[in-house]
Amino acid sequence: MSKKIFLMKFGRCAWHKCLFCGYGRMEGKKSSIENVRREFDSFFDKLEPGVDHITVFGSGSFLDEKQIPLEGRRYFIQKCKESKIKKLTIESRPEFIKAEALKEFEGIELEVAIGLEIADDRTLDKINKGFHLRDFEKASKLLHSYNIRVRTYLLVNLPFVENIKKSLDNSVEYALKFSDSIVLINLLPHYRSKLMGLWLRGEWNFLSRDEFYRIVDKWNKDSKIELDAETFWFTPKFPPELREDLSGVGEEFLTHSYFEVWQDYLLRWYEVPKDKEILLFLPCSHRKPYSESETHRKIIKILNELNLRGKIHEVMLSNAGLVPRGFENLYPFNAYDWDEKLETEEIKQRYIEVTSKRIENYLKAHRYKGVLCFLKYDSESYKALKIACNKLNLEFRNLLKEKTYKEIRKLKKPMQTEDALKDLYDGLKDEESIGILRNYVKLE
Ligand code: SF4
Repeated sequence: MSKKIFLMKFGRCAWHKCLFCGYGRMEGKKSSIENVRREFDSFFDKLEPGVDHITVFGSGSFLDEKQIPLEGRRYFIQKCKESKIKKLTIESRPEFIKAEALKEFEGIELEVAIGLEIADDRTLDKINKGFHLRDFEKASKLLHSYNIRVRTYLLVNLPFVENIKKSLDNSVEYALKFSDSIVLINLLPHYRSKLMGLWLRGEWNFLSRDEFYRIVDKWNKDSKIELDAETFWFTPKFPPELREDLSGVGEEFLTHSYFEVWQDYLLRWYEVPKDKEILLFLPCSHRKPYSESETHRKIIKILNELNLRGKIHEVMLSNAGLVPRGFENLYPFNAYDWDEKLETEEIKQRYIEVTSKRIENYLKAHRYKGVLCFLKYDSESYKALKIACNKLNLEFRNLLKEKTYKEIRKLKKPMQTEDALKDLYDGLKDEESIGILRNYVKLE
């Protein structure tokens, strides 16, 4: 069967209160019959020949007539029939699954997906699911009485669940009694969801892909069960109401939970872009995003001149942690302000301790072919990098020569001087021309 996905973006989920769901809170286009028809027409007009299975995804319920007006639903069914669609998969909450609506799909092999999430009423209440197992069972029986397939979504790693494996065993066993297929979904924090707050307060954490696959491994080859480790492109995205002013110097601004969740994300979820084989640690800058500062503009110009930006992974070192260039304009990396003039000896020491550990963990999690830096020798970031690399027995090279730094260190902005930038240019050119970058460091 050739499949096509239709993304439903009308109205809003009638319930919109599930703790883990951000999409359900979002308001789509007005569910007017004109809008609905227009979207359906545009979808079917572009449908490639041979497609015979449509899956409708969207937050909410296809069978909710406030979200898709009855006339619109009938129009969609008619379009499916005209386009010779054999199979249709839609999503719905149990309360919208009614006999009259189901009869309209006659002639199409219908599958209805229900987000049950977990087979436990108490947890369903805690996550504010708004229905119970008996509602799911009733809906499932009704669907089956019309020969309609039931597809059940279960969430792996919900908050309030003490024993994930045991709970999942129970949920799968229960769901199999009422479903034709099951999808085990790795729960990730969507920025619009209430789960985001739990995550930022350290009351819940996501599973890495590996952790997820280890937990669901026993169902890996089960033909009735699908595994979904990544339902959306996940990066820590902070909703405006949770953003705080992170300007300041001190422990609070070094190990703030907002920085910590990002560092954890970089270790357990982030994948370094495939072609970026060489890691280049760079200093942070007062100006945000970093790339708008004078120093970074000059560094980027050199990397561009040498045509190395696609190959070199620029990662800044800061009190906020390690910041890959691609994330520099995301909160909180674009919103903190650590004034070096306010640093005490004690906080400098803490910065070195915390940053060296962060670098060490990062280098353990990600394998590069080489590690370079362009940092002042007396900076805390350089000292932290040295400690981390020593611990890992890892070679790295500072492209700023020690001799140069001795001569420029008293100047106001030493990293912007021609001498420092020449070192960077020559160092990168040298590395490139002699091919060292390919074998510069060998990790165990
Ligand atoms: S999970 Fe489903 S029912 Fe719950 S808020 Fe989201 S869209 Fe609505």
